[in-house]
Amino acid sequence: MAFRFQGIDVTVGTGFLLLVALLVVQASSADQPLLWGLTYAAIAFVSILVHEFGHALLAKFWGLRVYGIEVGFLGGVTRHDVTTPRRQLGISLAGPAAGLSLSLAFLLLAIVMPEGWAQVASAVGWQLNLFWSLFNLLPILPMDGGRALASALQLTVGPAMAVAVAGAVGAVLGALGAVGMYLIGAYIGAAFLMFVAYQNARAFSSVWNESRT
Ligand SMILES: [Zn+2]
Repeated sequence: MAFRFQGIDVTVGTGFLLLVALLVVQASSADQPLLWGLTYAAIAFVSILVHEFGHALLAKFWGLRVYGIEVGFLGGVTRHDVTTPRRQLGISLAGPAAGLSLSLAFLLLAIVMPEGWAQVASAVGWQLNLFWSLFNLLPILPMDGGRALASALQLTVGPAMAVAVAGAVGAVLGALGAVGMYLIGAYIGAAFLMFVAYQNARAFSSVWNESRT
């Protein structure tokens, strides 16, 4: 599925349809599983789009070419031209900032809505967006927080050193998170974070090796 909004192409991959199916199954214990599954899917879809349009619209505002937004199983990706560290820092933070704004809007809705479907949906909306924004702000590559850290470092050190430091921070945080997940018995989460930590360590070591040759 693909559409165009505000001059930006959005592609929805099969991964997202898998997520919708998973959410419907997840809601199967509710009174109306299909209603709740689709409600969660709609909230997830809007939340991912608002986050990605935060990145995309700021990139476009600064005159960069935006190649499009892809929505998949693990959220969205916005592709745009490479830019200066200062602008990349802004673009990296614009996604979570848009998500936090949406979280606040959902929170206000949840407060004013009468009890019922819309109120529960609004409550899910503010919690999901708060979690998603803060999660993305973790300084671990390739998440927004990791990119923001690497961009901020580039304002003072070279790009190779910036990626090395951001990779090292991400590797340490990822490994600590993996240990924490393992201890609470979340083995899939632990394995995923171990993989992320490995990728960050590789980002660190590849740059480190390059800078020494
Ligand atoms: Zn993002």
